[in-house]
Amino acid sequence: MPTYRAPVDEVMFLLRDVFHVERYNNLPGFAEASPDIVEAVLAEAAKFCEDVLTPLNRVGDKEGCRRHADGSVTTPPGFKDAYRKLVDGGWVGASAPTEFGGQGLPTVLTQAVREFLYSSNMAFAMYSSLALGAVAAIYNHGSAEQKARYLPKLISGEWAGTMNLTEPQCGTDLGQLRCRATPQPDGSYKVTGTKIFISAGEHDLTDNIIHLVLARIDGAPAGTKGISLFIVPKFLLTADGVPGERNAVSCGSIEEKMGIHGNATCAMNYDGATGWLTGEKHRGLYPMFTMMNTARLSVGVQGLAQSEVAYQNAVAYAKERLSGRAPGGAKFPQKPADPIIVHPDVRRMLMTMRAFNEAARALVLWTALKGDIARRSTDAKEREAADDHMGLMTPVIKGVLTDQGFANTVMAQQVFGGHGYIAEHGMEQFVRDARIAMIYEGANGIQALDLVGRKLPKDGGRALQAFLAEVSGFIKEHGDDAKLAPFVKPLAQAVGELQQATMWFMQNALGNPENAGAGSTDYMQLFGLVALGYMWCLIVQAAYAKGAGANGAGDPMAAKLVTARFFAERLLPAATTHLARIKAGAASTMALPAEAF
Ligand SMILES: Cc1cc2nc3c(=O)[nH]c(=O)nc-3n(C[C@H](O)[C@H](O)[C@H](O)COP(=O)(O)OP(=O)(O)OC[C@H]3O[C@@H](n4cnc5c(N)ncnc54)[C@H](O)[C@@H]3O)c2cc1C
Repeated sequence: MPTYRAPVDEVMFLLRDVFHVERYNNLPGFAEASPDIVEAVLAEAAKFCEDVLTPLNRVGDKEGCRRHADGSVTTPPGFKDAYRKLVDGGWVGASAPTEFGGQGLPTVLTQAVREFLYSSNMAFAMYSSLALGAVAAIYNHGSAEQKARYLPKLISGEWAGTMNLTEPQCGTDLGQLRCRATPQPDGSYKVTGTKIFISAGEHDLTDNIIHLVLARIDGAPAGTKGISLFIVPKFLLTADGVPGERNAVSCGSIEEKMGIHGNATCAMNYDGATGWLTGEKHRGLYPMFTMMNTARLSVGVQGLAQSEVAYQNAVAYAKERLSGRAPGGAKFPQKPADPIIVHPDVRRMLMTMRAFNEAARALVLWTALKGDIARRSTDAKEREAADDHMGLMTPVIKGVLTDQGFANTVMAQQVFGGHGYIAEHGMEQFVRDARIAMIYEGANGIQALDLVGRKLPKDGGRALQAFLAEVSGFIKEHGDDAKLAPFVKPLAQAVGELQQATMWFMQNALGNPENAGAGSTDYMQLFGLVALGYMWCLIVQAAYAKGAGANGAGDPMAAKLVTARFFAERLLPAATTHLARIKAGAASTMALPAEAF
């Protein structure tokens, strides 16, 4: 059975020593989250995830969700009880606005908690994540009445939320959407159509489920400009705001799928279900994008979370499994063979995962902090800059962390040899669960196109320029510092390559958009390497400030320097390959006609 220890110390180090969150005490909710409160919250979350959710991860995978003849769906044994504990602990809306019953805690703290939830039980944690996406959409775009009616229960977790975009004929290309909405005299709409692959579309965890559904109002223009967003509750609310009559929405089936068996993936039938427009008519993609951006960051965290739990188990196995002798001679001569952790190739795998996880966690928390600034600062310029950062990093976090997160679960499985392929060890579940994160919330190829096609040129490239200015500023300031130079110099090279790639797109993609499409995934990965490389520089700086190197073997800060060096020497050089691929352009990718395949 796999085990999991939430990396509380790691998070505390990042919050306190790398990002100095105490500097943000002027933001609402930050002063209340003093270091001891933060530590207590993380410790409490860790306990819940380790003791309650981790044991349920395998149960959820084996038992899955069941749909019954009446369309109801039951979640795996133990999920209901665990969900009650999640709600009672106030975890669902911990950083939601206090005016609607949330606790207003900084997202930089609750995003760390989300990682713990996803590591311990991704399928379970998704139920509450979707509610948070619905909260973001209604809070930012709903009417005052909608906010009052839906937000408090979504924030408390008493009701769940869903997002309904996908239809059989379209997932990425929402312009093809067919679900329709017919206006009613009372201002409501009758929503009709079929949605597929709806996560948590039906289940037994909550008293109500608030579906957010994209549909086309009768007579609306074709394409994405004619799509609107509707709130469609499973149970219509009475005048008192409590669940009453059943709405005409039902789960037609649940999917048999590769992973996340504990989360019900539903085909949803809307048979003239009563819904209410939220946001503006025909502009439903705006509120849906608010929801999706929250969700995309959250899915990026899923990639990190699966990588972390898989890594932890691979380390434990590598210390126990005996096989062969270390290349330079036995390290444990008293044993019949050395543990496999002595082998450089096994170390390569462990170090790759470790070097990714620690920097990816930093990138997630840095971006969550920007999210807090974007929402809570009173300074408009500061809000704008933070919002730019969020926009730029969202596809990078979603795409890079889930691609590498999945690759790392495979690597962790590899450390187990044949035993990794056997269900009992739980490693193959991590691989299966991690796989979906590369697909949903916009497949990773779409994230790359979003980065290259929308986020780079937006506002004249303001977000990219700000990011490059910050990283280049750090390089300039610390490039001659003997301690930091071994990390700063390779980063400087990768930044140069990112700049060359950006320039190459400017010169070669406007005339031939296929050049942008063919290079976009490499660009996203190159961007991710630079962002992670910068995180390692900040981590190294903090580690030195905490006396790294002065405290002897076993010092966790000295280990940071070693891991940073591994990143700089073994992972960051991939930037050069990405640049070469980008510069190759689209010619060989696109030369063959479709019929030649
Ligand atoms: C388990 C699970 C849970 C899900 N949960 C939800 C949910 O809760 N709500 C919801 O609405 N949806 C959900 N989805 C749907 C998911 O978001 C879509 O499957 C995903 O966005 C891809 O859409 P698609 O499957 O239609 O693939 P397609 O859009 O057909 O894409 C197929 C491939 O082509 C590529 N591609 C497509 N168009 C382009 C283009 N223009 N340029 C370049 N490449 C392109 C894509 O990157 C992808 O690799 C879920 C799916 C699964 C499997």
